[in-house]
Amino acid sequence: MPLQPLKPKLIIANWKMYLGVKESIILARQTSKIKTTNEIVVCPSFVVLPLAKKELGKKVKLGAQNVAWREGGALTGEVSASMLSELGCKYVIVGHSERRSLLNESEVTIREKLKLAVAKKIIPIFCVGETAEARKAGETVKVIKGQLAVLNNLSFDKLVIAYEPVWAIGTGRVPTTEEISDVHGFIRAEAGKSVKNLQIVYGGSVDENNIKKILAVTGVDGVLVGGASTKLNSWKKIIN
Ligand code: PEP
Repeated sequence: MPLQPLKPKLIIANWKMYLGVKESIILARQTSKIKTTNEIVVCPSFVVLPLAKKELGKKVKLGAQNVAWREGGALTGEVSASMLSELGCKYVIVGHSERRSLLNESEVTIREKLKLAVAKKIIPIFCVGETAEARKAGETVKVIKGQLAVLNNLSFDKLVIAYEPVWAIGTGRVPTTEEISDVHGFIRAEAGKSVKNLQIVYGGSVDENNIKKILAVTGVDGVLVGGASTKLNSWKKIIN
């Protein structure tokens, strides 16, 4: 198994739409009390951002789950990069597979979102990953190369790329450590040239049982965690 020495990792929670307002406040407060040497980012729902920020304190960073592809004006129901910046968001998830597939998010809007986040000094957590069909057809690298093309000619001081195989999200299925290492290596070779500070995290059914093994894989700088980040007992073990 390709292994690397343990050092501080970037652990990102994507609470999606799993938690209510009160539940989010409680979990944010509990998260702020967990002792860890890792770097923690919590991405709650838009409606909870200011409340969560207050509870998370200074050490845990605030992230958003999405950002509008335009900066302001007549765009009912959207939230701009400036608004996120005003609320203290340091990170934003862009191009999550749920938004690509369920909300038809296109590469054009993803690129605009990346640009606007960077303009407001918010670090994008840019998600890429293949479907089960693409993997079966041996097209994992081809699909990811295509998704990474939206980064062409954009410049980033800091970027997080989340490798999230679509078939691993919320399914309990996880690629082998070799597969994760290979894809992370490919992403680093492809995107690393143009990004000064690139961190590549793995996402997809990370939990308290597989976290250590995944974080030890060569090329894995951290994890993006959905379901397991919303359950305090699992989350505590993942953070540590
Ligand atoms: C995600 O959707 O970003 C994710 C990683 O989900 P889960 O951990 O639930 O598979």
